[in-house]
Amino acid sequence: MPEPSPISDAIANKSLAMPGNDASTVARLLTEFAQRTALRGGNPYRSRAYSRAAESLLALTVPLDEIVLQDRLREIPGVGEAIADIICKLHRTGTHPTLEAMRKDVPESVLSILGIAGLRPDKVLKLYRELGVTSVDELEQAARQDRLKPIKGLGAALQRKILQGIEIGRQAQGRRHLHRAAALLRSAERSLRQSHPGLKRITPAGDFRRGCELVGELSLVAEVSDLNRPVERLKASPQLTVYLANRRHYGLALLIATGSPAHVAQLQERATAKGLTLDEAGLRRGRTTLAGATEEAIYGELGLPFIEPELREGRGEIELALAGRLPRLVKDEDIRGLLHAHTDLSDGVNTLEEMADAVRQRGYDYFGIADHSRSAHYAGGLSLEEVAQQHRAIDQLNRSGGNHFRVFKGVESDILPDGSLDYSDDVLSRFDFVIASVHSRFRLDRETQTERILRAVRNPHTTILGHPTGRQLLRRPGYEVEIERILAACGEYGVAVEINGNPWRLDLDWRWHQRALQLGCMLSINPDAHSIDEIQLMHWGVEMARKGGVPKDRVLNCLNRSKIEEHFRRRASRQLRRPAARRMALSCSLSTNLPVRRKNAPPKAPIGTRAGGCLESRRNGRNAASAQLLKEGSKRSRRTAS
Ligand SMILES: [Zn+2]
Ligand SMILES: [Zn+2]
Repeated sequence: MPEPSPISDAIANKSLAMPGNDASTVARLLTEFAQRTALRGGNPYRSRAYSRAAESLLALTVPLDEIVLQDRLREIPGVGEAIADIICKLHRTGTHPTLEAMRKDVPESVLSILGIAGLRPDKVLKLYRELGVTSVDELEQAARQDRLKPIKGLGAALQRKILQGIEIGRQAQGRRHLHRAAALLRSAERSLRQSHPGLKRITPAGDFRRGCELVGELSLVAEVSDLNRPVERLKASPQLTVYLANRRHYGLALLIATGSPAHVAQLQERATAKGLTLDEAGLRRGRTTLAGATEEAIYGELGLPFIEPELREGRGEIELALAGRLPRLVKDEDIRGLLHAHTDLSDGVNTLEEMADAVRQRGYDYFGIADHSRSAHYAGGLSLEEVAQQHRAIDQLNRSGGNHFRVFKGVESDILPDGSLDYSDDVLSRFDFVIASVHSRFRLDRETQTERILRAVRNPHTTILGHPTGRQLLRRPGYEVEIERILAACGEYGVAVEINGNPWRLDLDWRWHQRALQLGCMLSINPDAHSIDEIQLMHWGVEMARKGGVPKDRVLNCLNRSKIEEHFRRRASRQLRRPAARRMALSCSLSTNLPVRRKNAPPKAPIGTRAGGCLESRRNGRNAASAQLLKEGSKRSRRTAS
């Protein structure tokens, strides 16, 4: 057994510096601090800031002792002076006077109830005080026995929401949204670079590199110059695994750390069939190592082309690779313009001019504004007057903006309960494009909801169907709809299907993308940006499209400016209503001959084996399109709910 390298000791947080409570203990205490702060009421941002800081502590790759000793707490993302002070006390003494005071309010077990999606702290307190509920189990029992219904301030709707939230929490399994995973991985990488300046490359791997919509364990692959074994796997913190490898084995480490387990197992089977061995010691024939420096070389020795990480789910990608039919995935650079964004005229933060300017500066060729429509009162939907005002402003921008960039007049029109769109035909025809979205009446029965959306898809003004299932990851399931029928209608009527890039949505679910392509749909990758910062959410949308195996020629906003103008014109003159759309169903399919499915369950790939680490594999037979939800509050709800 080779000796572990000194660097692995250091990364595994085995430090001899000033002993205090370790990072995970302090993170636990800080989380309790956050929860109790939330229960006390007041500014919700404060409690959330504590939670964020606690999460960052869990991704540290340097012992907390050393960070405190060197007075570098404030280099941790989300840690300012006040939080640094709290962390110091928790680290040194294991408690804090404020925490001790708050502990007198409610028993510790009540805190677990706070994790239920959609349940506000004041309701938790009410449940405790009025029903004596002190745990999730007791709460579930109370809800199932209808004991919340008669109580003022609780009621039947909350009771239903609680049962749903408990279910979501059970499915969460410690996974987090993509943008949170990205932030934690960046901070872990920074911390690793500081503590070990000798490291060369560092690459994020795991669920994150595969573009899973929710990320479980975080992993990084780091290159060291010397190591006693090909790959060394270290638990750097409770939530972070670091894979160390030297240059000759870096590709091997990356392949293993990226997974999915199903994909790697299939590669191993293929190696075995060729008389080779693939494991953490390398890809070998007998004692001779054949490849390891790059993933390309390993795939090459196995007779395969490079398979993009997003496709590595064991869903048939190896068979496609062997047949030379892997899709050429859309890339960030392929996106030519942005079609779903809000301004301060509805519920956005920035003005039309600021948004347009920011989009242009990021190198896009066009920008389609799509503020909320009249019926969306909660989101500042635009009155007829405001529509006219915005259109004049857009004309002005286009007149003064030169020929290189264009702002399109769009709207995110509510799909009304009967399936009609907001505004009259006359008003709708003044827009260049219309995104039709459901923002209300989520609980219609399946048939009614499906018919409602189908009617909106058939509306000749509709250009794009926005966030088609309405799910919010870790917060609420999508509405009950027959996605297959809706996608088929979108294909038939030439309505593009949105891949919403907001990491809380990522809707349409990637598992449906191939089916959408087969049914002739174009997809539209949209950031649903409510501020300049959120323009970058586009990236998560692209990542989902890649995971779904979508090539750029099937993405609406990969069209250049003149092509998309033509698309809008043809749509407006109803020329896009076409069975011809079916012709676009190309040969890029990851899964064909799909079996008939139940409810919203996304298609499974018949030629693959079981799915890998992304969510679906961990559930059996659940309604997966609506299953990716969970706990953890987060309040951009006014925005993301809209
Ligand atoms: Zn929107
Ligand atoms: Zn919306």
